[in-house]
Amino acid sequence: TEELLRKSDKLSVVGQLAAGVAHEIRNPLTSLKGFLQLLQKDAKDETETYYNVMLSELKRIESIIGELLVLAKPQAAKYDRVNILSILNHVITLLTSQANLKNIEIIQTYRLSQPIIEAEENHLKQVLINILKNAVEAMENQNHGKIFVSAETNEQQNELKIEIKDEGPGIAEDRISKLGEPFYSTKEKGTGLGLMICSKIIKDHGGKLSIKSELEKGTTISIVLPIKQSIQ
Ligand code: ADP
Ligand code: MG
Repeated sequence: TEELLRKSDKLSVVGQLAAGVAHEIRNPLTSLKGFLQLLQKDAKDETETYYNVMLSELKRIESIIGELLVLAKPQAAKYDRVNILSILNHVITLLTSQANLKNIEIIQTYRLSQPIIEAEENHLKQVLINILKNAVEAMENQNHGKIFVSAETNEQQNELKIEIKDEGPGIAEDRISKLGEPFYSTKEKGTGLGLMICSKIIKDHGGKLSIKSELEKGTTISIVLPIKQSIQ
């Protein structure tokens, strides 16, 4: 089954609002956290656990807010010429130690006539980190497996295709349509915002994000991006 994530279509207005709210919440949250940490220092044994719970709940709010902030529209879309190879290498380096700890190997294959595309570097990194993290998290429990990362250019169509394929448990057919819905997560500590944000960013780039998955075989996420932005 292959599913194109379209959920982000409805998101432009709601996403702006969510990002705005997230931004407003961030400062009071920082001050709450600071004072809690201060109070924790002279906590008695019986209240120590309360502080730990409060701080870990705050951490969770922070991670949700951090993800929502990505939805904020950049002041002016700044598409730069970026090198996709260095972006992929950077992102893979970030996740390699986490992968190695779980016996997961990341294998890269590139067929690029040239590695330069027009994109928002930080947003693109965010997308690739989210997807690679999902792949690592999917295989964490089995404690072995490979992640295949590939990129190839299609000159005729002026497109770049990136694929991230894992050997995790896969996703049941009836669940694939839920992916990209905000807050849909099967993980205890998941936010369920990652894929929604990825598809929004890719759509803003004029690209497409699709998911193919087979139970017990694994999941492949494909991203197709225009090499050159036509509208800026
Ligand atoms: P989160 O990672 O916070 O749960 P995401 O939006 O990144 O949120 O993913 C939503 C859900 O999609 C995950 O909870 C998981 O159930 C499923 N998922 C995403 N990527 C994969 C994958 N590579 N293999 C299996 N399931 C996946
Ligand atoms: Mg995720």
